Amino acid sequence: MSKYSPKELEEFKIRLQEIRRVLAGDLQNIEGDSLNKSQRDASGDLSGYSFHMADAATDNFDLEFNIGLASNGQQSLNHIDDALRRIDEGTYGVCEDCSKPIPKKRLMAVPHARLCIKCQEHEENQKNRP
Ligand SMILES: [Zn+2]
Repeated sequence: MSKYSPKELEEFKIRLQEIRRVLAGDLQNIEGDSLNKSQRDASGDLSGYSFHMADAATDNFDLEFNIGLASNGQQSLNHIDDALRRIDEGTYGVCEDCSKPIPKKRLMAVPHARLCIKCQEHEENQKNRP
């Protein structure tokens, strides 16, 4: 079970909901056809277009965590929704692998984290193996 108090969980929940809003808004911008069109018309070509979008996303996104927003916004949204569900279920802040509490510092940086740093590193090492 979560080691965090209802008050702390509420704070994480608000934080996650804010991030969710930012992500959802950015997704609309990135997919918005009218925006793409006006930028294409203005610049006359598409070179540098993706760089510009990456910059814009970074500007909107001054939260101090990095979840690869531009490359997979939808997946990030799923992670946020998962975290919100875990708050409701009372399992938020517990590592899914080793069942140890995830430190608050990590959750402040990565509110949707489902693994502790050790298990996260382990998982990434597994993935990087040929
Ligand atoms: Zn763990």
